[in-house]
Amino acid sequence: MELILASNNPGKIKEFSELLSTKVIPYKELLGEIEIEENGSSFAENALIKAKTIYEKLPQKAIVIADDSGISIKALNFQPGIFSARFAGVGASDKENLQKAIDELKAKGVNTSPAFYTAAIAVVSPFGEYVVHGWMHGKVITTPKGNKGFGYDPIFIPESFDKTLGELDSSIKAAISHRAKALNLAKPIIEMLQKS
Ligand code: IMP
Repeated sequence: MELILASNNPGKIKEFSELLSTKVIPYKELLGEIEIEENGSSFAENALIKAKTIYEKLPQKAIVIADDSGISIKALNFQPGIFSARFAGVGASDKENLQKAIDELKAKGVNTSPAFYTAAIAVVSPFGEYVVHGWMHGKVITTPKGNKGFGYDPIFIPESFDKTLGELDSSIKAAISHRAKALNLAKPIIEMLQKS
């Protein structure tokens, strides 16, 4: 059965096909661009909404995978969480969201805070629905460093490291990231479904 990704983000398509060692088809190739309203109240709900929306529109049975992710910062009452992609407003850029996090931390008079990234991956198939999670713990600082990664990476220092994800080699992030951990849990589920 074909494996469809409910995202058109080239970075995610590459990450998913590499880690699953199989071909992953972006939904756009089959259905064109679709507006998906992420109105769930958790990462898991939003990932399921994305996967189910695409699954229900497919002309033939397939396995659909979707992810939803974000950062939770303790000093900001664990915000932005599921609102990470729109922290500075709907349509805000990664840079604007990052700046908003820095500004909010400074407004609270803190220059560092524990934080963690979460990734939820949903798998929807003719045989059922599954959701798995992965986390990456660490801390954030208010001085962005490095230009690797994306989003909040320039202010995020993973546990056991003294550099931000903006400075660390991408191979390190690939080994310890929330998405990699969730994908490693999703892999045997997808393999089982493909054999069903
Ligand atoms: P999604 O594409 O709806 O899952 O939105 C994820 C948002 O969370 C992104 O726009 C980033 O702001 C943030 N985010 C998730 N994972 C990462 C990461 O690995 N590094 C940096 N930011 C991330």
